[in-house]
Amino acid sequence: MEREQMRALQSERLVATVKRCYENVPFYKQKMDELGITPEDIKSIDDIVKLPFTTKHDLRDEYPFGLQAVPMSDVRRIHASSGTTGKPVVDTYTEADIDMWAEGVARVMAAGDIGPGDIVQVSYGYGLFTGGLGAHDGAAKLGAVQLPTSAGNSEKQIMLMQDFGSTALACTPSYALHLAECIEKSDEVQLENLKLRVGFFGAEPWTEGMRKELEQKLGIKALDIYGLTEMCGPGVGGECEMQDGTHLWEDMFYPEIINPDTLEPVAPGEFGELVFTSLCKEAMPILRYRTRDLTRLIYDKCRCGRTAVRMDRILGRSDDMLIVRGVNVFPSQIEAILTEFEFFTPQYFITVDRKGNEDTFDLDVELRSEYFSPNPAKQMPFIKPLYDRIVSVVGIKPNIHIKEPSGIARSMGKAKHVNDKRNFHA
Ligand code: ADP
Ligand code: ZN
Repeated sequence: MEREQMRALQSERLVATVKRCYENVPFYKQKMDELGITPEDIKSIDDIVKLPFTTKHDLRDEYPFGLQAVPMSDVRRIHASSGTTGKPVVDTYTEADIDMWAEGVARVMAAGDIGPGDIVQVSYGYGLFTGGLGAHDGAAKLGAVQLPTSAGNSEKQIMLMQDFGSTALACTPSYALHLAECIEKSDEVQLENLKLRVGFFGAEPWTEGMRKELEQKLGIKALDIYGLTEMCGPGVGGECEMQDGTHLWEDMFYPEIINPDTLEPVAPGEFGELVFTSLCKEAMPILRYRTRDLTRLIYDKCRCGRTAVRMDRILGRSDDMLIVRGVNVFPSQIEAILTEFEFFTPQYFITVDRKGNEDTFDLDVELRSEYFSPNPAKQMPFIKPLYDRIVSVVGIKPNIHIKEPSGIARSMGKAKHVNDKRNFHA
C-alpha cells in the first residue's frame, strides 16, 4: 500500500480505536479527560501525539481485565505474558482479534514461502505464552500443516523433525540453537536427512552472528519474527526474504519512536523507544503502549516491494540494560561479540555483583568442543582476544570464565542471560 493510502487507513482505524477506548474503557476516558481531549480531537493519524501513553505499570494496575472494551461474552481467548515479577500482563481476544493476529504471523511465514504441504514445527511453548498458539494459527492461515511439539523434550523434537519431514521451525533463537546442538550430537538424526528450509525465530533479541550460526547449523534461512503480548503476541512484524530489517504491520499496529526521557518523537531514523497503538484490536485496544524496546524505524522502500515500515534489530529492552560501573551494557552486545570468534559458541551468562564499592562483571562463555581444554594455560589464547574486544566495544573489563562444552544452561523459551546480584544487596 502506498504511504498516502496507508495513512488514510491508519487515520480511519485510529479514530475508531480512540472512540472504542473512550466509550468502553474507564481508564482511557479518565486519561483523556485529564488531558482535556475527546475523541473528536482525533481526526487523523497525525493527532496520535495528543493521546496519552500506556505503560506496563498501567496494565498491571488494571489487572486482569480493566482495559477490556467488550463484555466477556465476546471474548474467545485469554493469554498472559511470561513476566517473571509481579502480576502477568494479560491480553484478551475476540474472534476477530485472533484472526488479525493469525494474519500478522501468516504475513511473516509467507515471506518464508510457507503454504499447503509445509510442515511447520511449532517449538514455542504452548500455553498462556503467546508464542505457541500464535505461530500455530499463523501456519493454519496459510494452509500449512501445524505440528504442535511445543518447547522441550528435544531428543524427541529432532526425531519427529526428521521422521515427519518438518520444513519450517518456529521457536526462540536460543531454543533453535539448542536443537541444532542436539542434532549435531545425535547418532540417529542427521542434518542431511532433514527437510527443514526456514526458521521463524523471535520472542527475544538475537544477532546477525546468531543468524549465521543457525542458518549454517540447521541448513535453513532464518527469519526474525517480532511481537509482544500487549499487541497480541508474535507477528506484529517480521523479516522478509531480504533479511534487511523487520517489517511492522502498521495497518494493524501503529509504531512510533520516542525519546524515553522527554517522551517526544525522535527525528526520523533515530533510535529510541518503540511505542505501539493497536489499530484493529477489539477486546483490549491499546493507545501508545511504551514497549521499552529500543530500536529505530526505516521508511525507505524495501527491495522486496513491501511498503510496510521496517525496524532495525532490537538492541534490547531498556529494562534489560545493565549499568556496570556507569557503563551501559546490553546483553545482546556480548552475543554479537562472541559470534565474531569462530572458537566460541554464542552461549553466555553474565553475573553482575558488587564487591565493596565496585561493580563486578563475570562472563561465562563456552569454547566449541574442538577448541576446549580444561587447562587454563591453553584457554588463555582464547580469553585474551575476547577480553580486548569487550573492553574496546563495550567499555568494561570482564572476568571471563571458560565453561566446558554445553556447560552453560540451555533454555527452551526465552533465554536468561543475566543474574544481577546487586538487586539483592539493596
Ligand atoms: P514478556 O514481557 O514476559 O517477555 P512477551 O512474550 O510479550 O512477554 O515479550 C515481548 C517482548 O519480547 C518484546 O517487547 C521484546 O522485548 C521481546 N521480543 C519479541 N520478539 C523479539 C524479536 N524478534 N527480537 C527482539 N526482541 C523480541
Ligand atoms: Zn522487505
